Amino acid sequence: MQKKMTKVRVRFAPSPTGPLHIGGGRTALYNYLFAKKHNGNLILRIEDTDQSRYVDGAEEYIVNSLQWCGIKFDEGPINGGDFGPYKQSQRKDIYKKYAEFLVDNDKAYYAFDTKEELEEMRVRMKKAGVASPQYNSITRESMRNSISLSEDEVQKRIQENQKYVIRLKIPRNEEVKINDLVRGWVVVNTNNIDDKVIFKSDGMPTYHLANVVDDYLMKITHVIRGEEWLPSAPLHVLLYKYLGWESKQPKFAHLPLILKPDGNGKLSKRDGDRLGFPVFPLNWTNPETKEISLGYKEGGYFPEAFINMLAFLGWNPGTPQELFSLNDLCKTFSLERVGRSGAKFDFDKTKWYNQQYLRSKTKTELAEILQVLLKENNINADINYVANVCEQLKERATFVKDMWDEGKYFFQQPRLYDEKTIRKKWKDNTHVILNELRLEISKIEKFTSEEIETVFKQFLESNKIKMGVLLPVFRLSLTGLGMGPSLFNIAELIGKKETLSRIDIAIKKIKK
Ligand code: GLU
Repeated sequence: MQKKMTKVRVRFAPSPTGPLHIGGGRTALYNYLFAKKHNGNLILRIEDTDQSRYVDGAEEYIVNSLQWCGIKFDEGPINGGDFGPYKQSQRKDIYKKYAEFLVDNDKAYYAFDTKEELEEMRVRMKKAGVASPQYNSITRESMRNSISLSEDEVQKRIQENQKYVIRLKIPRNEEVKINDLVRGWVVVNTNNIDDKVIFKSDGMPTYHLANVVDDYLMKITHVIRGEEWLPSAPLHVLLYKYLGWESKQPKFAHLPLILKPDGNGKLSKRDGDRLGFPVFPLNWTNPETKEISLGYKEGGYFPEAFINMLAFLGWNPGTPQELFSLNDLCKTFSLERVGRSGAKFDFDKTKWYNQQYLRSKTKTELAEILQVLLKENNINADINYVANVCEQLKERATFVKDMWDEGKYFFQQPRLYDEKTIRKKWKDNTHVILNELRLEISKIEKFTSEEIETVFKQFLESNKIKMGVLLPVFRLSLTGLGMGPSLFNIAELIGKKETLSRIDIAIKKIKK
């Protein structure tokens, strides 16, 4: 008989302590891709046990960002599911019994130490030559906890409502082994782990306990998260063991760090500010300082470009193909092809992706986006006209906004004329020649790009004028610029009347 495969269940578990950044977005994306690839479920779980770090609006921001990226959840605070609630603050009552279970089984203990006492211990240990003092198998004996105190004393303190935390009793000198799906075997000696607080005096679990309990209760099969959580993994493995859930322990995959474009550190918001690129998917307003950080969406990026870029931060398909839709990624992605070494963030590459996706859009799709910008600039243009303009400009643009910045002349007369072109190309007799050209153009009946080009070339020939002499000033008259897409196409699009009128205006306005 064939063994029944366990359904893949993965989760994205952000803490609402701020906006989602590039790293968080990539973690969510990889979880999504992994779930889709294996016909599994993706769960959104909000890890908000640390109320002191809660940031207003962060949760909503995270949800909106993921939605913009096209990452959909099968279960979560919004769409519900069989394993809810999906916000840890609403699961408060669940965790205590697991912490107590660990205490009862001698795997955890109550600790009553005050802040001052903890500090005293640190000072004492430092004096004794310990570089980074820890609450562990050595120091716990000298502290105030249910290991060092008599049982009566412990009971008394609890009855007196003295504040206590629950700490995990990390054994001395044991090896914890994790077979990470990205990093291979990771072995950590317990001497390097301190007796972590798993339950706080405010009645809330810490991240470690809540995370493990929820992963277990939500039947998570794979934990895919950033490398910054690797140091916590041995502790989590111990928790699975002590809670008797070893056989249900999920597989771990720790994703490589995302590094700043220059240097080796982790990419931070400061790098974005310093080098001028967004690090958040959407605009984020810091609720305290009111400072606004630009998002990719508002910066004119397509979500397809953003996720394609994210996918390649640590993963590659093993082929030269670089453009992957979300759908393609769902099929191609695998954890085996996630690298171990840090992935350098490359902003130019992000722009390149945007350019590629812009080119792949139809002129109508682009026109709909450009139309919004035009309206903001009080320009009312027919959508078919806008679509034709997009067709002319799309090869030269990285963002839809570029089509407005560089193609304003499609919608309004030039206000300024490029100085450099005037200096180089506008001669004393230019207005005379342009006037003669105007006359020829005015005779064209079918005002198409081909006709205009033919007439223009005939004019050059019969007057023995070089292309390089007349074309730039003709362009200058129609667009105000020294460069751009095919001028004959431009003339056809703006139409005969407008073309003639712009020549007239240029002759009047541009004086040598
Ligand atoms: N709440 C943690 C975070 O903010 C989740 C880490 C994990 O996935 O285990 O990233």
